[in-house]
Amino acid sequence: MRGLHTPNLPEKIVDAIAKVVGDPPVALHEPHFSCKESDYLEECLTSTFVSSVGSYVDRFEAELANYTGAKYAIALVNGTSALHISLKLADVGLGDEVLIPALTFIATANAVSYCGAIPILIDADPKTLGVDPAALREYLNENSVIRDKHCINKLTGNHIKAIIPMHTFGHPVKMDELISVASDYHLTIIEDAAESLGSYYCGKHTGTFGLLGTLSFNGNKTITTGGGGAILTNNKNLAKRAKHLTTTAKLPHRWEYIHDEVGYNYRMPNINAALGCAQLEQVDKFIKNKRNLYSKYQSAFANLNGVSIFSEPEDCMSNYWLQTLILTNEDKILRDEILSLTNNKGYMTRPVWSLLHKLEPYKNCQHMELSVAESLSSRLINLPSNV
Ligand SMILES: *Cc1c(COP(=O)(O)O)cnc(C)c1O
Repeated sequence: MRGLHTPNLPEKIVDAIAKVVGDPPVALHEPHFSCKESDYLEECLTSTFVSSVGSYVDRFEAELANYTGAKYAIALVNGTSALHISLKLADVGLGDEVLIPALTFIATANAVSYCGAIPILIDADPKTLGVDPAALREYLNENSVIRDKHCINKLTGNHIKAIIPMHTFGHPVKMDELISVASDYHLTIIEDAAESLGSYYCGKHTGTFGLLGTLSFNGNKTITTGGGGAILTNNKNLAKRAKHLTTTAKLPHRWEYIHDEVGYNYRMPNINAALGCAQLEQVDKFIKNKRNLYSKYQSAFANLNGVSIFSEPEDCMSNYWLQTLILTNEDKILRDEILSLTNNKGYMTRPVWSLLHKLEPYKNCQHMELSVAESLSSRLINLPSNV
């Protein structure tokens, strides 16, 4: 019978989750530590270099660059500050406009606001959960004109300067199509790769396609430094500028305090970098376990009508940071009931973020037709994703 939802779906979902992750309580995402972390932290304490100077920061940056294939990595206090500084380095300022997904964590939009710039919201692609390059091209074709290699918003007259694709739950955006749109419309790409450490598009690490890319090492991310983030870039000047701007723009001198512009205190402390070095040594194992967990969910949900487990897009290797259940249109009416029952039973599940234009600070943002993002936001549920 069409239009009728699957009988006892919430109960069946609880059973399927239990089959994969065992007895409750089970968190959505917990950090995982070995004895490496304690060793490095102790070394850090013994050395007394716990703050903004110390060998772990340099080492963490070098290892991040090596792991992602970026030429340079700059470690910062969190992923939001990495986005903020990346936008500044891309010369995004007062009155500029920046294209971002409607379906993202609020940090992506906030970083744009910190620069005095204005977000424009883009619809999602159901195959990647990230920005849809085809919809973006159509939107820009109708709503912008190119003048002197600048993309100008026809409605506001403002310069649309950049685009921030975000690789949702670790699943890469269709980067080759996006790069082609960005190139045609003279947009700078800054990737929000906060969720996609260890995710690859056509064999290349996410966060290394644009002029700049950003990572987050918050407590719930694939690896954690407590709080932390990083900027990735292949551009030596930008890397130098990133370090300078995030270290209060202080000029090197043995004793003088000379600052040549308004800088930021955004550098990652050594003690957090020590944690990061230990975590990065285990990242391959974490990702292998996450990919195994995906296979287990896939089997457990295979015979359940009304739902499916989201799989990595074509040509991609995803880190499967957060496992994602998708409800059919018929069953989306059960979303809150499923969230309520799973959480009551001790299995922590979460809906996807509220779309940005539904939030008070961004309710007046210009946006395209957001039908896919709207549909996804009513149908996605994140499942326990511990490794
Ligand atoms: C985690 C995250 C960030 C950055 O978060 P911080 O807590 O500042 O490190 C940015 N964007 C997205 C999409 C994220 O998930």
